[in-house]
This record gives sequence, structure tokens and C-alpha cells, in this order.
Amino acid sequence: MINRLYSLSGSFSRCIGRGIKQLWPLIIMLCMSASATTSARPVAVNAIDAGTAPLGNYVQIFTETGERLPWYEALRKFNNREATASTHKVLVAGIGAPPHWLRLTLDNHSAHTIERHLLIDAAWLDEVDVYQLNAEQQLQHTWHAGDSKAFAGRSKATTGFLYRVHLPPGTSDILLRVATPDPLVVPVYLLTASAFENRATQHYYSYGFSYGYLLALIAFNGMLYFGLRDPRHLLYAIFLSIFTFANIAYTGHGYMWLWPNSPEWQRWATPVLICCFGSAGLVFAISFLNLHTERKRLSQLVMAIIVVFALLLLYGVAAHQQTFVLYLTFVFMLFYALLMLTMGMAMFSSSSTGTRYYIYAAITGVLGVAITAASVWGFIPYSKAGFRAAEFGMLVEATLLALALAARIREVQTNHLNAEKLASTDPLTGLKNRRAFYLTSPAMWSNSLRYSRPLSAIVLDLDHFKCLNDSHGHASGDHVLKVVGVLLRQQARLSDLVVRWGGEEFLLLLPETNATEATAFAERLRELLSAQQIRYGDKRLHVSASFGIAERRVSDSSIDQLIERADSALYQAKHAGRNCTRTIGDTDIDVEAEPVINPH
Ligand code: GH3
Ligand code: MG
Ligand code: MG
Repeated sequence: MINRLYSLSGSFSRCIGRGIKQLWPLIIMLCMSASATTSARPVAVNAIDAGTAPLGNYVQIFTETGERLPWYEALRKFNNREATASTHKVLVAGIGAPPHWLRLTLDNHSAHTIERHLLIDAAWLDEVDVYQLNAEQQLQHTWHAGDSKAFAGRSKATTGFLYRVHLPPGTSDILLRVATPDPLVVPVYLLTASAFENRATQHYYSYGFSYGYLLALIAFNGMLYFGLRDPRHLLYAIFLSIFTFANIAYTGHGYMWLWPNSPEWQRWATPVLICCFGSAGLVFAISFLNLHTERKRLSQLVMAIIVVFALLLLYGVAAHQQTFVLYLTFVFMLFYALLMLTMGMAMFSSSSTGTRYYIYAAITGVLGVAITAASVWGFIPYSKAGFRAAEFGMLVEATLLALALAARIREVQTNHLNAEKLASTDPLTGLKNRRAFYLTSPAMWSNSLRYSRPLSAIVLDLDHFKCLNDSHGHASGDHVLKVVGVLLRQQARLSDLVVRWGGEEFLLLLPETNATEATAFAERLRELLSAQQIRYGDKRLHVSASFGIAERRVSDSSIDQLIERADSALYQAKHAGRNCTRTIGDTDIDVEAEPVINPH
């Protein structure tokens, strides 16, 4: 089985490898030969100002095809004009390219020795060998570096490879041999000490900003998870953490800060963490977009792809197939980009704000990753900004995803509020229902109790409503109930609680109102209602109601006692002939019964 897998992966990597091998001379030709000449200009070291631009335009290059060449053989090839001059600022030769030799001629016009920092600013190169020759082309110094050696052995802590050159008056040659199975990218800089310090300062501030921003989002979402127990926040925090970790690895910060003595881990950290980052992103997207319930097939397909790549990755690492693992990582990133966008598009029709934010986020993230991948693989000219595109894309993506999560919370909250409103509103009259009454009234009750303020309740019941229903139909009855609801709401104060208590019975709770005032108010309502002609289609309907009023007593232990008294007052009103008010206050106040007006 293992053998089968091995040969499968071997043929897979050979297949891609062959494709790339056929491609990379083309890439190199594109990079170098467009306007190549066989000799390159020397670098006037005294003239290079701040020295911020890479020196690719000054180098000659050839590839080492067979055995490893000693420096003097390489020099012979350069002298025999077997090298070409690059016109690109940075040499980029893709994954699995053969070792490259570069020559840089430095010209010191001054009369004394000067010092410069030679910086090869790509953290992942396995072997970087520097040979410094004098004007007579004799070897002066050699320096062997590369991330296959422990970081702890480096003289200066910087993510790239830094070599201090002492340049005597006249010309000196630098021969540089670079070999790596990773993407071969060689940005060469020659910097004064202060330019190097400026560059380092900018470097740390900008990465500090990026990591600070990402860490803040991670911490915030971690806290949201512990607070809200919504797994999407946890998955998002994990996704961001792994991206940050992967970025720390591929920029060389991990080797410098976290594992300086582990070249073996350094070899695998970048591809392994990038694959983990991609998987975490896909899992987060499935959860965020609810794909496991809404698009089951698609989510299963994505999970299957993750599992296949994870197994291939494990195998590649176990079998020490570094080139295979690197190709696998790039292919996985391609899948990642396509799947992230496909998943967003599959849910586009849901047209929720959260999904739209997600799609913009996925597009920026994927674009960033694509630009970084294309610039280290040589499909577009290499630049610092291109190299950092994945990180900038991720900052924008992370921000948009945070907004997407917030939009999702808002949607849930709005649905919740709507459900809450529906649960506490009577759908016919739009008044509050009995459930809402018991949510709202306790505060009014305790206010009245605490500040010894009056509080009254009016219960009203429509008279002979059954007859109205029977003779005019249920729809007419419904219409009358709505009209009564409007009347009560119009006449009551904002601070009063107006409730459809059930059927054709309504309840009003009136703060700051004693029994006398409540009775007067109920009388007004009774008169208005009995005088009103209610139109429904071509019908003219009349309705009256009986009112029971009660005021809170000091002896009342709950609001139910107040309502009970209002209810028994209503009972009295019904018995007294209907269309009248009856009151039970601190001292009972009775209002004379009006003659009953029958609606028929
Ligand atoms: P009373 O004067 O003694 O209160 O007589 P009534 O007919 O109003 O009282 P009863 O309790 O006998 O009947 C109440 C009627 O109210 C019966 C029921 O069909 C009607 N009703 C209750 N809820 C609704 C509703 O939502 N819409 C309509 N159209 N009628 C309703
Ligand atoms: Mg009734
Ligand atoms: Mg009734």
C-alpha cells in the first residue's frame, strides 16, 4: 500500500515536476533573456544611496546542472561568458529549480575600505554560499548559510541572510550560490548600516502591526466563543491563528523567534502550516455558510478533499519527499481558492448580508494568496508587496469576516426580536397579549409599591358579543375587536399598558392613576365606544362594553389580586345591566349604571 502510494505520489510529483521542468527554462528565459546581455554593470557601491532596491539588474546568472561546482569553476564560467545578465530586479526560478550561481561586481571608488550589508532576503533558501573575491579574483572570504542550518548559528538575527562585506578600494566580486527545493527567489540587496537599520525598523513595525491586528482579532473571537458558545467564532479564531503561524513560518520569523534550533521542523513548517491554514479556512467556511445543512453534498466533497490532501501531506512528510510536499501545498492552495469561492457562490442566493461579506472576504483572501504564490513561483515579477499580498489580503479578509460574523449575530438577534415580538403581540389587534402583560407589569407594580404611587386596572368586556358574531359573522366581530383595540390605544397614555386579555376582554393597567381617575377614564371610553358607529362593508355596527375598575390596595400582595378585584367589578357591571362601569377602589366607589344598549 505504502509502495503504491509512494509510486503514485512519485508519478504525481514527476508529472507536475516534468511540467514545471519544461516550464521553468521558459520562466527563466522570461525572467532573464528578454533583454539579456552577457555582461552586467558593476555596482558603484559609493553611489548607491539608501540602497533600498534589489540588485538583480547588476547580476550575472547561470544554473548548475551537474555536479556541485567549486567556486573557481563557477568563476571560470562567468569569465568565459557562459552566464547571462539579468534585467529583472529579483531572480525567481520556481519550485525545484537547480542551484543558481550569481555574480555581482562591486566597485569602490573611494580611497578607503568601506563596509556594506549584503542581504539575501528570502528566509526559506536551504543553501546560500557567498564567496568574496578581490580585484585579482582571489578568494578573500567565504560564508555558508541557509535555513538547512540551525538559525541559532547566525551572527545577526534577521529573517533573510545577512553578510557583512568589507570592500577595499577598487573592484571586488561576490559569487553567490543558491540551492533550495523551495521556490527559488533571490532578492539581493547591498545596504549601508543605516539603510539596513531603517529597513529592519520598517520590517518590524509593519509585521508588528499585522500580527498585532491578527492577534487582537484572534483574542476577541476566542472571548466571543467563550461568551456566546458559537463554534463559528472558535473556528474563525483557529483559522486566523493558523494563518498567523503559517505567515510567521514562511517569512522566517518562526525560525528566528520560535524554533532556531530545529532546521528539520523549519523544512516542513511552511508547507504543513499552509495546508493546515487552508483546511481551517474551508472548515470555517462550511460552518459559517451552514453548508453542512444547506448544501450537504458540497460540504462532504470539501471535507473529502481536505482528508485526501491531509493524507498525501502526511505521507510526503513521512517519506521525506520535500518537493512533492511543496507541489502538493501549491495545488492545495489552488483548490482552497476555488473551493472558498465556490462555497460562497453556492450560498449567494441566500443574499444575507453575512454571506455577501463572506464572498468579498473570500475574494480578497484568495487574491492575496494567489498573488503571493504567483510571485514566489515566478508567474509575476517578484516584489516585496507581491510577497506580502497574502498577509495584506488576510488582514482585509479577517476584517470582512469579522463584519460577516457581526452581521450574522445581528440577523440572529433580529429574528429573535421578531419572534419575541410575535410571541408577545396579539395578531388581531396588535395589542400586547397576556404573556407580554406578565413581562411588563412587574416593573409597574414594583414602582407603584416602592414609591407608594396609585395604580389602577380596568377590565372591559364587550356586551353580547356572541350575538354580534352570530348575526353579522365572525369577520365583522374581528373587525370590531380591531376597532376597539385602536380606540383603547388612542385614548390611553403611552405609559399605560393596554392588553387583549382574551376573547372580547381587554385590560388596561394605569400607573399614577387612582380609582377616581381610572373610573373617569373608563367612563370616557364607555361613552366613546357606545357612541361609535363601526362600519364594516355596508354594515353599521354598534357595540358597548362593561367596565370593572380597581385600585391597588396596600394589602395587595400581587397584581393578580388587583386584577381579581377589577374582574369582580366587571361582573357587577354585567349584572347591573351592562354598558356601565363599576369600581372597587380603596373605598368602593360606584358609578350609576347606564341603560343597556343592545347592539341588535
Ligand atoms: P357578555 O355580554 O355576557 O359578555 O356576552 P358575550 O356574548 O359577549 O359573552 P360570551 O362569553 O358568551 O361570548 C364571547 C364571544 O366572543 C364568543 C366568541 O365567539 C367571541 N369571540 C372571542 N374571541 C373572538 C375573536 O377573536 N373574534 C371574534 N369574531 N369573536 C370572538
Ligand atoms: Mg362579552
Ligand atoms: Mg367575555
